[in-house]
Amino acid sequence: MSFDNLNIIAPILMALKEEGYTQPTPIQQQAIPIVLRRKDLLGCAQTGTGKTAAFAIPVLQLMNESKQPGRKNIRALVLTPTRELAIQIDESFRNYGRHLDLKSLVIYGGVGQKPQTDALRQGVDILIATPGRLLDLIDQRHISLSHVEYFILDEADRMLDMGFIHDVKKIIARLPQKKQTLFFSATMPMEITRLSASILHQPERVEVTPQATTAETVQQKIYFVDKGNKKQLLIHLLQDPAIVTTLVFARTKHGADRVARDLTRAGIRAEAIHGDKSQNARQRALSNFKAKQTRVLVATDIAARGIDVDELAYVVNYDMPNVPETYVHRIGRTGRAGASGMAISFCDNEEREYLRDITKLIGIRIPSVDEHPFKPGTPLPPKESFDRPHHSQKQGVAAAGKRSDRPPVNNKKKKKRFGGWSNKKKVF
Ligand code: AMP
Repeated sequence: MSFDNLNIIAPILMALKEEGYTQPTPIQQQAIPIVLRRKDLLGCAQTGTGKTAAFAIPVLQLMNESKQPGRKNIRALVLTPTRELAIQIDESFRNYGRHLDLKSLVIYGGVGQKPQTDALRQGVDILIATPGRLLDLIDQRHISLSHVEYFILDEADRMLDMGFIHDVKKIIARLPQKKQTLFFSATMPMEITRLSASILHQPERVEVTPQATTAETVQQKIYFVDKGNKKQLLIHLLQDPAIVTTLVFARTKHGADRVARDLTRAGIRAEAIHGDKSQNARQRALSNFKAKQTRVLVATDIAARGIDVDELAYVVNYDMPNVPETYVHRIGRTGRAGASGMAISFCDNEEREYLRDITKLIGIRIPSVDEHPFKPGTPLPPKESFDRPHHSQKQGVAAAGKRSDRPPVNNKKKKKRFGGWSNKKKVF
């Protein structure tokens, strides 16, 4: 199937070609014809499936067909939970619509509103917004939703998780009755099912990439390692220059900061991104990472869910996620839209039960890398695996010595004493 079979107009086809898209992803194949038939849509799909283009392409096309000359009104509203996602969606509309005369604008909180209200005054066809800032600007009468013909609710389940569902309902109450609604959610908890039933009119449902599958294009590997040696293992792996940029997942905000700090001390350009950072700091970190100025972006799950970086080849689970679906989400950051990727997971002794749950969910056993310098029980990292001494290395050694309560042993002895550990204690 190619985009030519989907009745897409020439200017959009041209833009897709310029983007390098050769064929539609499954959700695009299913959703585009439904939206072009002006039906409401319930899409169960997560980020990474190509869902943004699945709604942006047909909405641009319908808006272009019914464009009225003269003053611009907000005719399409996209509501999305985070600033990062909002910016990406705006970029997508701009990319796919670059040969059309339709204007999009993105608004979000955490930054001054003046540039946004100035841009609104110039006239906008497509508004992409996060809920809080949208409500603020509606209340201040900078925005009217009375001309909205297309309403797209993106990541509805995440709106619920992040506590935005009340704001979303308020916004929905201000939309015109007559409109086409496209509703996207990766999961369908009860409250989201109820919300979808209340706003969708005889929707058609499309579902892609069930939660429990990992993309075949992503190669997965497990490194069994003691907690105190994870830092050294990461630094060791990053000595491979083939790893140009990596997204590293940490379970906590504090942990993300610590990993970024340790890498920086080891001379590796790294930044952390999480909910305690200001919007500006998060956006700056993301831009630096996209521009490959930062080699490693360390993120928590909430902060990372919307990250969409072209050519992200490596994802590292520094901590194993305790919710197995999170593993699927995390590794979905790489290997997007058919590109190949590598997902590396560090698993310490306590995390083996998380790994068991993940294995059950994804239905495959992730191959482990048994030969590496920081196998479980390794009290001292071999010196040659460091570029230069750094503060964190000393800490790691001290921690390892304390934990094992054993004097440091040389490598040969260590191999004999601990070498078979990971095999014997394998959980599989
Ligand atoms: P999304 O699920 O909308 O976040 O999209 C995931 C990524 O896939 C984005 O980087 C898109 O640019 C890319 N993408 C979307 N559709 C296609 C396609 N048909 N061919 C190649 N890449 C695509």
